Amino acid sequence: MTFCYSCGALSTSREHVPPKCLFPEAKDSLDGIDRRINLITVPACTEHNLTKSGDDEYFLYVLSTSITSNEIALAQVQTKLGRAIARRPALTTSLLEGSKDCWVRDSATGAVHEATQFALDGERFSKSLELVAKGIYFHHFGERWEGKLHVRADFIDFPHEPNAADIQEARMALASYADELFKVEPKHGSNPDVFWYQVHTPCEGPRCLLRMGFFGGSRAIAFFGELRTRG
Ligand SMILES: [Zn+2]
Repeated sequence: MTFCYSCGALSTSREHVPPKCLFPEAKDSLDGIDRRINLITVPACTEHNLTKSGDDEYFLYVLSTSITSNEIALAQVQTKLGRAIARRPALTTSLLEGSKDCWVRDSATGAVHEATQFALDGERFSKSLELVAKGIYFHHFGERWEGKLHVRADFIDFPHEPNAADIQEARMALASYADELFKVEPKHGSNPDVFWYQVHTPCEGPRCLLRMGFFGGSRAIAFFGELRTRG
């Protein structure tokens, strides 16, 4: 008998973490390489199986259209998501709702690109991201995390919030703090250009920190345990 990585109920299947749809098969890869190899799975109940909930498609969509993601992600928008939209045109409407054209500056090169800004269903995306973090915790430590969990994505902007500049600054500060903290930690994952993770166990504060990288540049950090504010 096995139990769900998220809630501890009886498991009904094994769930891919992160969702299998993120990993392109050979036909959806620019270089023809199959990246569905040695994927991580954990036991899951019906409710916590991301694939069944349909949120995995949305999760892939947000990640693969993020400006911080690599060309492997982009190719999936053109192939796999293209097929999904052809099957179900209403998907485009729901995904593009509230979108508008904008300009973004590449902080590394200073180049300006035309892009599209989407209204993100933050709650839906965060829920998926939290389930991935819990699944990776289960996979790495062989036990379920039952305490507090906070997940922050490096690559999500909140341009319409009144304190957008502060949020942006905090996000950048957290990203560079994480770069330093995880510098020496090994990266895990058999298909690192789609997904990798690192674990850091500090002697104080949260029980552990998890850093996850999706499609190269889209990163998120998960704090397992109580967050203590300095001061
Ligand atoms: Zn469950």
